[in-house]
Amino acid sequence: MNFTKHYDVIVAGAGMAGIAAALETARSGLRTALVEKTVFPGGLATSGLVYFYLPICDGYGRQVNFGIAEELLHVSYQCGPGEVPANWRQSTFEKPLGRYRVDFSPAAFILALDYLLTEANVDIWYDTLICQTIVESNRAVGLEVENKSGRGGLRASIIIDATGDGDVCFRAGCPFDEETNKTTLWAMQASLERAREAVAKNDGTRLMYFHQIGSEGKEIQGDIKSKTYPWKGTDGRSVSNFLLKGRSLLREHYEKMRGKGQRRQDLFPVTLPAMAQFRTTRAIRGRFTLMAGMAGQRFEDSIALAADWRKRGSVWEIPYGCLIPSVTGLITAGRCISSVGDAWEVTRSIPIAAHTGQVAGISARLSIAQNRTPDTLPITDLHAELRQKQMPYHLADLAPQDEK
Ligand SMILES: Cc1cc2nc3c(=O)[nH]c(=O)nc-3n(C[C@H](O)[C@H](O)[C@H](O)COP(=O)(O)OP(=O)(O)OC[C@H]3O[C@@H](n4cnc5c(N)ncnc54)[C@H](O)[C@@H]3O)c2cc1C
Repeated sequence: MNFTKHYDVIVAGAGMAGIAAALETARSGLRTALVEKTVFPGGLATSGLVYFYLPICDGYGRQVNFGIAEELLHVSYQCGPGEVPANWRQSTFEKPLGRYRVDFSPAAFILALDYLLTEANVDIWYDTLICQTIVESNRAVGLEVENKSGRGGLRASIIIDATGDGDVCFRAGCPFDEETNKTTLWAMQASLERAREAVAKNDGTRLMYFHQIGSEGKEIQGDIKSKTYPWKGTDGRSVSNFLLKGRSLLREHYEKMRGKGQRRQDLFPVTLPAMAQFRTTRAIRGRFTLMAGMAGQRFEDSIALAADWRKRGSVWEIPYGCLIPSVTGLITAGRCISSVGDAWEVTRSIPIAAHTGQVAGISARLSIAQNRTPDTLPITDLHAELRQKQMPYHLADLAPQDEK
């Protein structure tokens, strides 16, 4: 090894889940490493240009997510445009637009996140790839990483897998579920037309907009009904082909626009995603798996609520078991928790990734304090912490719904 370092907690991946987890543990005084293979914090939300912080309310004016998930929503527009709809409590919109949500600038969010993480004393390792999980007697004790210094070993009492792809659990030998992906590309673009609109309306936010391929049923490859799409985010070759396909479709789009008389200096891409925009890659097979049909179901070990961004009034409880993989010393958060099918559509959103990230951080902290691992942590202890932080985890804890 070219270098080694010891921590209380290592958080793998600096997406929304990893950031929330690292903030939680570092703010409580634990020596926390945050390891990220790109050079940015935020994961898909920033490097992936996914700039819609989906709702943290149920669509009937009831707030569902609190804590760091709510804090990060507000941090997302600290250095740039974006605001919460003033009337979200009175929202009558079926779509998420009028709910407690925000559109943000990925670049502005990155600047704010760097500051937040540094202030909390998180030891950030950017440009550092996690290559292997060090497992001793079925317990994860560290990570092998690779960066400009060479190969390194980071060790910790608890490791949080927030890689979105479940890389740490996968490398530790944990079983997982996976899904294929449709062709997608979201790119930020600039246009003279939008610039004119911005000036006419005296509103700079109109300059920030994007072109999507795939997301609205256009140019999708594969069978939409059965969801047998061609791309696998867990296959190295497929990842490259997915990226090439999306970008070639985007190139063709601009060529088509030029064919329609649009001058190349008046409409052009300005930023492309710096990570592959896969929605679903690996979901660890946890102690419990959340799946279709479980919306509104009560789970005694629920640790979070997740409002369905597609459907107002639909709220899910997320059991703690979804965060617990088969190898001990590990806990997961975000896009790679044990959640499949329709449930995955809900749990993989930005606010829920942040929420499960904070819960994983709390669990790591309590586990260290009790000299145990997250899989043996009494749920009553976790619930006591969540209540103290005023983070509801059962539907019954929410105020009655004001039906409209
Ligand atoms: C096209 C698309 C549209 C979407 N639309 C929305 C939307 O409008 N609103 C919304 O809320 N959600 C949306 N989502 C979902 C949402 O963006 C993500 O699911 C969420 O941001 C996931 O956060 P995460 O922290 O769990 O994972 P990620 O954002 O994937 O973060 C994981 C981090 O870990 C790092 N990492 C991974 N492997 C390694 C490794 N081996 N070593 C070191 N670092 C590693 C990655 O670089 C990344 O920074 C969309 C997703 C896609 C793809």
